[in-house]
Amino acid sequence: MVTLPQDGLFVLHRLESRGFEAYFVGGVVRDLLRGVQAHDSDLATNAAPEDVIAAFPDVPVLETGIRHGTVTVLVDHRPVEVTTYRTETTYTDARHPDEVRFARNLEEDLSRRDFTINAMALHPSRGLVDLFGGKEDLENGVIRCVGDAETRFREDALRILRALRFASVLSFSLESNTAEAVRRLRGSIDKLSHERVQSECTSLLCGDNVRNVLLCYPDVLSQVFPFLSAMKGFQQHNEHHCYDLLGHTACVTAAIAPVPRLRLAALLHDCEKPSCFALDEAGVGHFYGHASKSAQTAETILRALKYDNATLARVPLLVKWHDLPIEESERMIKRRLNQLGEAALRDLIALQRADTLGLDPLYHDRLPHFDRLEAILDEVLAKDACFSLRKLALDGNDLRDLGLRGREIGQMQKRLVDAVIDEEVENDRAALAAFVKGLRD
Ligand code: ATP
Ligand code: MG
Repeated sequence: MVTLPQDGLFVLHRLESRGFEAYFVGGVVRDLLRGVQAHDSDLATNAAPEDVIAAFPDVPVLETGIRHGTVTVLVDHRPVEVTTYRTETTYTDARHPDEVRFARNLEEDLSRRDFTINAMALHPSRGLVDLFGGKEDLENGVIRCVGDAETRFREDALRILRALRFASVLSFSLESNTAEAVRRLRGSIDKLSHERVQSECTSLLCGDNVRNVLLCYPDVLSQVFPFLSAMKGFQQHNEHHCYDLLGHTACVTAAIAPVPRLRLAALLHDCEKPSCFALDEAGVGHFYGHASKSAQTAETILRALKYDNATLARVPLLVKWHDLPIEESERMIKRRLNQLGEAALRDLIALQRADTLGLDPLYHDRLPHFDRLEAILDEVLAKDACFSLRKLALDGNDLRDLGLRGREIGQMQKRLVDAVIDEEVENDRAALAAFVKGLRD
């Protein structure tokens, strides 16, 4: 059974023992009503931030967002966010309220919240406060703005992406006025900071319902991922494909594990297909060079969204090689390990498997191929076989002793790794030295 988090209850009771009122609000209430154990506790209170701080002389309190009325109480190292009842006034830039004002009561605080499912409050003895039909929307799987949708999105354009994020993560649908306003005001997403857009898009992509959200809102999401608009209705003229390019992309994205770098690679893997399209005389579509070109575009987009360096290194690499054939042999797996390393190779196999799941089901008989590749990969690694310079039994100093100098050494090491992978020579110091001598005679 799901329960109210103990750390939040501790803070709530302490505030109430000092004569204030406090409620659980937002995501924690939504998750509890859905039967999901909440991961963090957010409380709203009529206590001013300084009163909250004064109520916890014995517990660490961080003044995280004190300007916005939020302090974080650390209960056994777990953060409980306590926000003084707030109301928001005018917005001139669609991203920051011009000022933050404290509200008189809970009702006012709830009405400034974004969606009905996020605008409920819960108290351990006074029960649920649901002024906007949030519980019913939760039961029906509906995302609906609190108040007039257009006004709410004009105030804060991030809510547009939050609406799609919740639709993806919770597998909900947008109520029709909310959906229309999302579409109408999509241009205001451009005003948001890249960091906030990135964070919402990452969560959106990792949602269970990402396929439907991509299929229903390509026009909105093309504000962030411009290639999506050209994908809609784009027919590939190729017997492998039963969906248009958007359908394929949405399917591949949903088919891969919900890990940001993998979902991003899936979303971006074919992004330049439309610009590389050519029909041959037989009426079959080809996309020469699309993988490299898509990798470049992927990098540009991810850089603009301020993704971290690990993502910037991995995702374009996966996009670039997404069509790379990998034969089922130890030799081939060792070559790919040498080229990409274990982690990227595992990601690449995952991407190729998902890409296959995005084809006409007639071609799904290729799927066992990827299981076999993973099995061979596990075997190669278990044997601790040599597939890279690091594992070579002859090092740079040995090569110097054999008379090699400067760049020759690096070139010879590469040659030796290839020779060991191709089983021309054993990975043994004496055998390798003899092999080097043979090459130099
Ligand atoms: P998550 O599970 O992702 O933490 P959450 O609902 O708790 O979901 P938060 O971003 O932590 O989402 O926000 C907490 C609450 O604050 C929301 O439930 C909502 O009531 C309110 N909120 C957050 N962002 C906005 C916004 N941009 N506009 C209006 N209300 C917002
Ligand atoms: Mg939260």
